[in-house]
Amino acid sequence: TETKPFEALSVETLPKRLGENEALGERIGKDASRWKVREVGDGNLNLVFIVEGDHSAAVVKQALPYVRLVGDSWPLPLKRSFFEYHALTRQEARAPGSVPAIYHFDQAQALIVMEYLSPHVILRRALIDGRELPNIARDIGLFMARTLFRGSDLSMVTKERKADLALFADNVELCDITENLVFSDPYFEAEMNRHTSPQLDGLVAELRADRNLKVEAQRLKHLFAANAETLLHGDLHSGSIMVTDTETRMIDPEFAFYGPVAFDVGMLLANFWMAFFSQRGHEDKGSRDSMRAYLLRVTAETWSVFRAEFSDLWRTERTGMLYQKSLFEDQGDRLGAEQALDHMLAGIWTDLLGFAGIEVHRRILGLAHNADFETIADADLRASCEAKALKFGRHIAVNRRQIHSIDEVNTLAALIEQES
Ligand code: ADP
Ligand code: MG
Ligand code: MG
Ligand code: MG
Repeated sequence: TETKPFEALSVETLPKRLGENEALGERIGKDASRWKVREVGDGNLNLVFIVEGDHSAAVVKQALPYVRLVGDSWPLPLKRSFFEYHALTRQEARAPGSVPAIYHFDQAQALIVMEYLSPHVILRRALIDGRELPNIARDIGLFMARTLFRGSDLSMVTKERKADLALFADNVELCDITENLVFSDPYFEAEMNRHTSPQLDGLVAELRADRNLKVEAQRLKHLFAANAETLLHGDLHSGSIMVTDTETRMIDPEFAFYGPVAFDVGMLLANFWMAFFSQRGHEDKGSRDSMRAYLLRVTAETWSVFRAEFSDLWRTERTGMLYQKSLFEDQGDRLGAEQALDHMLAGIWTDLLGFAGIEVHRRILGLAHNADFETIADADLRASCEAKALKFGRHIAVNRRQIHSIDEVNTLAALIEQES
């Protein structure tokens, strides 16, 4: 199959085309005539099949030469599968056990055969359902600290990091999606935008006329594009995380790219804050007071776990060319290393608030919306949740240098949420 031209799989053709694939056959059972195949892709971009054999099941994810959500009028290169594969292998090395195991990769067919996560569900779905998962803050905080620290010049041999930077620099088309859809389109009447209308029309016009906000969004875009600090997941929202009550796995890193540490962290926290603002729309079966409190605790704990782990790695694994120990600890200057760490964490904090604010906006004003809000059927109720999230996003993006703690942010979120 390696040399055959790309062809999209279907439920019907998959057993014939992958029947001889050893990695898949060994994993799930070799008798392909007995395989049961279903397509479960609910994402915006790719095909995802679950293939069940006599022994077990596996997932086959295949890229398409276009954006699934939009159709073949929007071409998108197959090589995103290559970046997803390479990102997954790096994440597994840097944060073992945090991603699905990879069984096979076929570059020409743009397909990855991987572990079927079951009974995992998408975290976003669980949060909409009001499930208070006990481990997500810890698991995601550790994942971010480990992958973001260990993919940077704080840790890597600089020659390897530069080679990796060059490899992922070719993921231009997916970066272009982020650059436009996240940082620019929400702030003007871009063609593919949509928002809950007419309820939000006034607020949307206000945001698009907000000079401070637009300048901030472009400064953040500049940071995203120019600050190639570490290998990002690049699409780390609650729809890219699968969970059980005790397990957490990150999936779907096809947007992987070298960018600022704060991007993944900000995007992730934004999705918790959006889950928080959407809860009012999911109270038909009972109050979500407890869920709201839980979600704010999760944001605080995620950030605190991230900080603690990042600091620990800073103290124990700082083997890269930045802030070498020869300048600090080796001269008996532990305090100097701590001072530099504080600077770094302060910068990450300020920037993540900006990224988080912009992420909230693009999910309500742009092309790709979140099920947290989209599943609120009553448009007035949905708009009222979205409006609060928009105001919150604007506040933290524009005032990010004046906000100093996650408790401050959460107090603000609670204040805005309680407005009528
Ligand atoms: P896309 O890039 O199109 O967004 P995703 O990788 O997010 O594709 O996968 C789409 C959906 O397929 C996920 O939301 C999830 O429901 C399912 N899925 C993807 N990978 C796995 C996996 N390893 N195990 C189980 N389900 C998966
Ligand atoms: Mg996805
Ligand atoms: Mg694993
Ligand atoms: Mg994806």
